[in-house]
Amino acid sequence: MRVLILGGTADANRLAAAVANDARIDAVLSYAGRTENPTPPPIAWRVGGFGGIDGLADYLRAENIARVVDATHPFAAQVSAHAVAACAMAAVPLLALERPPWQRAPGDRWIEVDDLKAAAEALGAAPRRVFLGIGRVHLQTFAAHSQHAYLVRLVDPPRAPLPLPDAEVIVARGPFDRAGDRAMLANYRAEIVVARNAGGDAASAKIEAARDLALPVVMVRRPFVPARAKVETVAEVLRWLGHDKTPAERGV
Ligand code: NAP
Repeated sequence: MRVLILGGTADANRLAAAVANDARIDAVLSYAGRTENPTPPPIAWRVGGFGGIDGLADYLRAENIARVVDATHPFAAQVSAHAVAACAMAAVPLLALERPPWQRAPGDRWIEVDDLKAAAEALGAAPRRVFLGIGRVHLQTFAAHSQHAYLVRLVDPPRAPLPLPDAEVIVARGPFDRAGDRAMLANYRAEIVVARNAGGDAASAKIEAARDLALPVVMVRRPFVPARAKVETVAEVLRWLGHDKTPAERGV
């Protein structure tokens, strides 16, 4: 069975590892190409956009794809919407693998907003020391709020100066741990954290660290994605792919 996994997340990598040794599944993992050195997965992989909905539908037909698993980041809303439309066009079943969002816990001081622009505004007029755990491409949104000092954590070293006049950069790739993130926030004397509600374990350390330090978190809610079948675990995806069936049940 030819399977396309739309990736760019730890969950997609876990799924790729889980199907790697299944001779029945011929899966290809697709990366957008945002990180410079993606971890090579143990299955076939490709890099780059498909060229919109039509491009993805063409790819599905040309590659004879029988199932698509959308394991992209919950904030990668465009590719997810494209997958819904392209799979409908090419009549290919689609399943999303999506971690549940983080929930507010006792001690959390969240300020929930709908997008990063609102997050930048929620920091207020007075200068503050801010931790931005939002990725490189969205930093521009904070450029107009240059009264603040920012600590920015990035996967790759920045190739160009950041659009923030007062920014310190930490280059690191998750998963992160709570004690490490607590030390990072305390050392920087961060007063507030900006995060997107990605959910999952890989990036939750900063939220727990902010709770430990009683810091407010400006939490960006997830963007809208059109309705599609959705599960939360790799095991459920494997069941959908028929992985839990015996060879006899599969008619092999
Ligand atoms: P996006 O806005 O939803 O997608 C923009 C365009 O990038 C899509 O229209 C598509 O181009 C291409 N694309 C996205 N994911 C792709 C994939 N897995 N394979 C092939 N093409 C893909 O996505 P984004 O927010 O820029 O995120 C890009 C990638 O980074 C995603 O794969 C996502 O899983 C990963 N990621 C994103 C975030 C985040 O915060 N957004 C965080 C961690 C990882 P075409 O229209 O040409 O097909």
